[in-house]
Amino acid sequence: MRHQSASNGALAEALFALADSEPPGDRRLALLRAGYTAFDSEVKAHQELLRGAPHWLRPLITQLVACRGEDALQAAVQRLQSGESSRRRPARQGYFSRVEMIETLHSGPEDLHPKRLRGAFHWHTRHSDGKASLETMARACSRRGYAWSMVTDHSRGLEVASGLDLEGVRLQQGRVAQWNRQQGEDHHLFQGLEIEVLTDGTLDVPKGERLEVDCVVAAVHSHFDPDRDQTERHLRAVQTPGVHVLAHPRGRHFHHRPGLKARWEKVFSGCADAGVAVEINGFPRRQDLDPDLARLAVDQGCEVILASDAHAVPHLEFDAYASAIAMRAEVPRERILNVRHADEFETWLADR
Ligand SMILES: [Zn+2]
Ligand SMILES: [Zn+2]
Repeated sequence: MRHQSASNGALAEALFALADSEPPGDRRLALLRAGYTAFDSEVKAHQELLRGAPHWLRPLITQLVACRGEDALQAAVQRLQSGESSRRRPARQGYFSRVEMIETLHSGPEDLHPKRLRGAFHWHTRHSDGKASLETMARACSRRGYAWSMVTDHSRGLEVASGLDLEGVRLQQGRVAQWNRQQGEDHHLFQGLEIEVLTDGTLDVPKGERLEVDCVVAAVHSHFDPDRDQTERHLRAVQTPGVHVLAHPRGRHFHHRPGLKARWEKVFSGCADAGVAVEINGFPRRQDLDPDLARLAVDQGCEVILASDAHAVPHLEFDAYASAIAMRAEVPRERILNVRHADEFETWLADR
């Protein structure tokens, strides 16, 4: 019988679970680091884990890798756990490890592959918390084969200090216009703005300022309040005139928070009624929506937009995770805004 060793995702979960049972310190850190290595590795992580681990951790990794199947792995983790078992587990469920994402892309429908997308949506520049200039990011999008792309820096409001104020929005607008004069035939650039949804569902930027950009992206980055149902907050945000996209709706973050509680059917039917697209954010630590909720959004009639949420040039490839989620959720290609031509997408934006 062929030896079926555990997947990278299962190995990562085992390492994270062991880390959870350790007190803060070097052991815990080394286990966490190994967990992320398995989660992010492009190939079977075994060798990579052994190479990067401190001496004391190697026998444990060998033991985990030797487990046949995920039940055996879980049993081993239970034996090895030194403290209480993992309370953080819910914050790690429903994510693709990198290997799993790649396998999904290979086996999924060709027409949802990132290579078949026309637009790169949702990325940041130095104008907010990104690492590269507007032009560097746009050039990288163009080189990746996209016909259009959209910058979505954070706005500066009560909640986000490092974003664009009105003057910054206008300066960026000038650079977007200049790009389009010079390169617009080859690669059209749109200007979006990622705006904070406050606890009551209002947006953190006055209406007049929002109207100056092509696309308003509403998103929650603070006040997650895990015990409070956030349906009304989301509904009020998406019903605000001029909002185009609800970004990373759950606000979950791998290993750190499981995300907002809401009656998602209601949120998504509110999006569909208001003509607001729902984002599938491919940033590996977000993967928000997950496949189940993405499916629910489609069933409620929503349009979908895939995003990398890139904060640097290499992150632009993260829309591959969004593609994999869309494949798993069986999102029909015609519901995905990134497959539209620039002029069709422009019409969609103007209709909101
Ligand atoms: Zn965001
Ligand atoms: Zn963002």
